Amino acid sequence: MERTNRGRQRVKLDNVLRHTLWRLAEHLWDIRKTVHDRTYVRSVDFTLANGRRGTVKILLEPHMELFGEVDTPPGTAHNPHTFYMLVNPKTFLNVRNVYSLLFHEFMHLTDPTQSVAWNDRYCKETYSADADETYYGHDIEFRAFVNEFLEGLVNAFADGVSRGTDGATLWRMNREILDHFNEGGALSSDTIDLLQGVGGFDGENRFKREWRKFSYRFPFLKKLYWAGDAAAFLTYLYRIREFNPRRWPRFLTLLYAAHGEIETVIETPCDSGTKVQYRFL
Ligand SMILES: [Zn+2]
Repeated sequence: MERTNRGRQRVKLDNVLRHTLWRLAEHLWDIRKTVHDRTYVRSVDFTLANGRRGTVKILLEPHMELFGEVDTPPGTAHNPHTFYMLVNPKTFLNVRNVYSLLFHEFMHLTDPTQSVAWNDRYCKETYSADADETYYGHDIEFRAFVNEFLEGLVNAFADGVSRGTDGATLWRMNREILDHFNEGGALSSDTIDLLQGVGGFDGENRFKREWRKFSYRFPFLKKLYWAGDAAAFLTYLYRIREFNPRRWPRFLTLLYAAHGEIETVIETPCDSGTKVQYRFL
């Protein structure tokens, strides 16, 4: 069951499902080079945000253009047990990146508007991945990207704790991120490094040097497409702010709650030898 806490907290998947997704991410990463055609991997059960149960078949599809997508067969749009998910192994950067992709797709699966509350106008006529306005501007992707980011952000701080990064540094980085999104405050280079690691996108750092040059202090409220792949999540979030400004205050509310969650993470000692991604199980 997801915990939404009256909408003021990020959407979390239950611990059993998170554990399943980490295991699945490791498995998909391991077999990524052995798959040459569309391949069924396994089915996963989940709970929608409204408490209904659903099932999804996970398939690897190396011939698609996107990172991943979820859909139902024709004529079954309202049935949450007919979902299938295609993920593209050619886009995988590392296990953390695969987990982030799965988490994003599960934000769609657990969104009631994608099955039991399906509405053609909401889902087909106003949503499209072909344009920024209808993709980053749509509430469907707000839910997916924002919660994917916050999950990755909390995990990145847990990772820092497990690597022994000193608490004062983590505390400062947590504050910088909040101030940056609230007021356009500056990000230190180590905070930028941490943000680049959210979702495993530090595996792709072709643009890292260029990104650093411009990003020590960059103007708020500007298009930041130049950030390129290296800061994938900053780019995604700025697109959401530009194309769905009505929702931006809600992002700040959820970020503030995650900021408090991260403070708890920083102050909670990490068992030695514990793999960070399982820390919250
Ligand atoms: Zn999406």
